[in-house]
Amino acid sequence: MVKTRSVIYCRECRMHWIVDHEPARCIDSGHAHELFEVHLHHSRVLLPDGTAVTAVSYDDLDPYDRGRQPDYGLYLDRKWEPPWPHEYLDWPDFGVPDSSVHAISTLKAMLKRAQDGESVEIGCLGGHGRTGTALACAAVLTGCPPDKAVDWVRSHYCPQAIETLAQEMFVLELLA
Ligand SMILES: [Zn+2]
Ligand SMILES: [Zn+2]
Repeated sequence: MVKTRSVIYCRECRMHWIVDHEPARCIDSGHAHELFEVHLHHSRVLLPDGTAVTAVSYDDLDPYDRGRQPDYGLYLDRKWEPPWPHEYLDWPDFGVPDSSVHAISTLKAMLKRAQDGESVEIGCLGGHGRTGTALACAAVLTGCPPDKAVDWVRSHYCPQAIETLAQEMFVLELLA
């Protein structure tokens, strides 16, 4: 079971806040407020060849709270600035990387660390679009057929993984 956090969003103000942790950013009773249950991932994912990585969401309240710190983190968003060794793979929100060649080499280097015994985590912000797409790519690089990788990540990680058609196409065409 993935942990969740309740978030309220005001569409008119385009503001969100965390229930019970932050003051309401909009108190206009004329505005429609929507309640969301947002996933807080800290999910161990076993890739097709047995390599383990931990997929994480960025928790605004305490992003670096861990029982045990990872040896290495690969982050798809520069908001991450953890105290442990880490690198970035630039990946626009709701988008795909400019270069699949660079993405492949970065993901392969991450997988090599995990295969060598390091505890490795990967994350963006929400943990679904970019992280989900990167995990699907990692699944392809560890033996999953590209046309099965989107389903693979949704069943082995989270049903909400991968958010756009362009992200699905990126996985499908990763090795093309
Ligand atoms: Zn409002
Ligand atoms: Zn999720």
